[in-house]
Amino acid sequence: MIITKSLESFYEKTEIVEECLEWTGTRRNNYGIVTSRPNSKSPIQATHIAWFLQTGEVVPDGKFLLHSCDNPPCVLFDHLFVGTHEENMLDMYDKGRRQRAKPYTPKSDAGWRFSLAEIYAIREALEKDKSWGCLTRIARRFDTSPTQIASIRDGKLHASR
Ligand SMILES: [Zn+2]
Repeated sequence: MIITKSLESFYEKTEIVEECLEWTGTRRNNYGIVTSRPNSKSPIQATHIAWFLQTGEVVPDGKFLLHSCDNPPCVLFDHLFVGTHEENMLDMYDKGRRQRAKPYTPKSDAGWRFSLAEIYAIREALEKDKSWGCLTRIARRFDTSPTQIASIRDGKLHASR
């Protein structure tokens, strides 16, 4: 019922912004949401409705709809793709890297902080590469030191926020 009602008015609540189709209805954390009633605790993400309209399928549990355009309010089907939580974190990590002017300028190892997304990405890399020299290889990839990679592996480093 909720979805059926939303379908009719869905595209009335969008506007073309550059190459994207942005949701003009309610947003939460800049992502479009559709609620069946005000203050609903379980809103449907606008992107999930766009996906359903196009494919007739519901996004599987545990999967996320990610934006190829990196624009959270966008509901353009062509800009959406299904990914896992890990892919979501890596996606954020990649985008974070691109936006950061300088990689890292730590004063010392002790002052080094990683974002949660980076720690996920590093842990993923550690899972995939357990051969000799992996710490050095991964450290190079993430612009850090093998000591820092080992600390993350051993759970001694925590996210900065
Ligand atoms: Zn878009």
